[in-house]
Amino acid sequence: MSFFSTRGRAYATASQAILAGIAPDGGLYVPAMFPRMELKDLAALVGMSYPQRATQILRQFLDDFRPAEIEEMTRKAYGERFDTPAVAPLHRIDGSTWALELFHGPTLAFKDMALQLLPYLMAASARKNSENREISILVATSGDTGKAALEGFRDVPGTSCTVFYPKDGVSDIQRLQMVTTGGENTRVIAVEGNFDDAQTGVKALFSDEAFREKMAEQGRVLSSANSINFGRLVPQIVYYFSAYADLVASGAIQQGESVNFAVPTGNFGDILAGFYAREMGLPVHKLICASNRNNVLTDFFRTGLYSTHRVFFKTISPSMDILVSSNLERLLYEAADRDGELIALWMRQLKENGSYAVDQQRLEWLSDIFFAGCADDKETRREIRDMFRQTGYLIDPHTAVAGAALGEYRRNTGDNRPAVIVSTASPYKFAADVLSALEEGEDSPSRDAFACARTLEARTGYPMPPQVLALREQPIRHTRVCAKDPAAMAEAVLEPSQSA
Ligand SMILES: *Cc1c(COP(=O)(O)O)cnc(C)c1O
Repeated sequence: MSFFSTRGRAYATASQAILAGIAPDGGLYVPAMFPRMELKDLAALVGMSYPQRATQILRQFLDDFRPAEIEEMTRKAYGERFDTPAVAPLHRIDGSTWALELFHGPTLAFKDMALQLLPYLMAASARKNSENREISILVATSGDTGKAALEGFRDVPGTSCTVFYPKDGVSDIQRLQMVTTGGENTRVIAVEGNFDDAQTGVKALFSDEAFREKMAEQGRVLSSANSINFGRLVPQIVYYFSAYADLVASGAIQQGESVNFAVPTGNFGDILAGFYAREMGLPVHKLICASNRNNVLTDFFRTGLYSTHRVFFKTISPSMDILVSSNLERLLYEAADRDGELIALWMRQLKENGSYAVDQQRLEWLSDIFFAGCADDKETRREIRDMFRQTGYLIDPHTAVAGAALGEYRRNTGDNRPAVIVSTASPYKFAADVLSALEEGEDSPSRDAFACARTLEARTGYPMPPQVLALREQPIRHTRVCAKDPAAMAEAVLEPSQSA
């Protein structure tokens, strides 16, 4: 299958799109078409393991990879590094609501679903394109992508991984997970700014010719492990199909019956994969786009105006503290009937004026598919507390935002059909805030994260993941801090390795 840039001026094979990450015209690669999964194809998934389901979906898009090659990759990626053979198990919350648990991988957040696979895709893509230089992965993280990318690429031959995270914008556990990472080819750098600053800086490096040349002199070529890379998106499509197959398998729905998905959203990568699954024929009625107080997407879906002229808030769901959602560009491309010129115009307006607007007709098309809701920290805490009291199920703050948005959708519409809350992180990654929510606290506690995790375990009976406990013993290996301008970030990538 070919891939087109959303800005209309580039074209690639699947392996080229994965290697490059971002298109040379600044756009994002999208598949030329959405392969159709018929009801019989959906039925075939029901009896399969997660790696087998992944193989079926991936081969629809990655036609310059051999099926046997894909099968080997999915088997390796979704094996023993996950703490359950189900990989992405579905938990029944009540008679019409399920949680799709995507945090059973090594770093306890949904980013593992893609980043355990991406290094294999990247290595194979390099081979297919005779790329012998070191593939230098640059990552901007709002907290979870960084660690997942580091774990995925750590000591993978022919690659290196440099992560930029907002210095004061991640949870204690998230920061410790990153700065204790081992491996000869990893680098972790704190940026004096927020996630948007880090992401803007990384994007600027990708389009900086002088920087690319200096990298080439060092024998290195850039790629991305952020969800701008199609190689990040395609593994995420899989779990929507997998959840549906599990609902059918359990008898909760009939084959062909439609369901809703509620997705906690930041960079729009997770929910975009759900949209792609829907375009492929998965019976999805509504995709519920859930935002925290940084509700730029809620406003966009309600008004058609995307505007970054707003205050940036730090919330208890930090992985969603984002004002510029990169992957929305891919949805806009479909909403604009694949008119790359129009997308290029909107993205220029966003860059120059901080906003763009879509017309009424396109907004209606979007509203048919998406419902947008949001929850501030107070509502998020209440959702964590109510969920635990009423159902005994413990959720993290990101998942709680989606739970709250689903509640809002159901109250507004009366649509109570089966719904899946996409559960994106282990509550132990945010133990301090989850504990305070259960205790009816209103502030983010400054208590020691490990003490909170232990208390949370005692109070709820949910076992603490061993990865959290192990963090205490591990030495801090990365201490580099840099200013938020691209020049400083470039320097940090080019200088000799600083890790101990
Ligand atoms: C990254 C992340 C999100 C947001 O996902 P996007 O693909 O950026 O929309 C939500 N929850 C958690 C825990 C995350 O790590």
